[in-house]
Amino acid sequence: MVIAIDGPAGAGKSTVAKMVASAMGLRYLDTGAMYRCVALLAQRNGLTADDGERAAELARPFEIRFGEGDPQPVFLGKEEVTDLIRSPAISELASALSAHADVRKLMADRQKKMVEVGGVVLEGRDTTTVTAPNAEVKVFLTASMEERAKRRHAELLARGELITYEELMKQIAERDHRDYTREDSPLTKAPGVTVVETYGLTPEEVATKIVELARAR
Ligand code: C5P
Repeated sequence: MVIAIDGPAGAGKSTVAKMVASAMGLRYLDTGAMYRCVALLAQRNGLTADDGERAAELARPFEIRFGEGDPQPVFLGKEEVTDLIRSPAISELASALSAHADVRKLMADRQKKMVEVGGVVLEGRDTTTVTAPNAEVKVFLTASMEERAKRRHAELLARGELITYEELMKQIAERDHRDYTREDSPLTKAPGVTVVETYGLTPEEVATKIVELARAR
């Protein structure tokens, strides 16, 4: 069984995907974390948001692996980068670099291989269109921009990141624009997706809906 969860920034994809994976005994693949690893490498090597080609070259020799646990440990080569890849600067750079075809191809090819093995819940903006278009269950989560910003804000504050709600709204609007308008694999509702509006639902309720969809298959 493969379950793909797509949708815009801050729609709650990762929280819900983890819950679904745990409820169904499937692996959880956080595709965004892989783009964040590329951004970390780029940042460390002084690359800018335009250096997609060089970022892909830098990332090519590095294995990106996931461990067990919540938060799920992320390894870039031998180094654990779980927390390092969650800063606002990396969020920005990951979003910008993920628009580059070289970066996308490198990540999507690796993710497709992980999906081929099966038994996975994967989450990210292209999972229903590119990396797992044949998933048994394809879901597109939606939520208003205000709600997504609120959610992200709470998450970041809990992590000790200082950012105002207004600044975050601006960032989310920029990321949405970039994700929807990029030429390579733009964020879009693929044929066969079930759109789940998350307004007024807890993450548990959203996860339950997806588990029901999966069981019905
Ligand atoms: O989901 P997360 O915020 O961790 O993703 C980081 C960035 O990577 C996003 O801004 C998004 O643009 C990009 N991304 C992507 N395709 C994916 C997952 C993430 O382009 N499948």
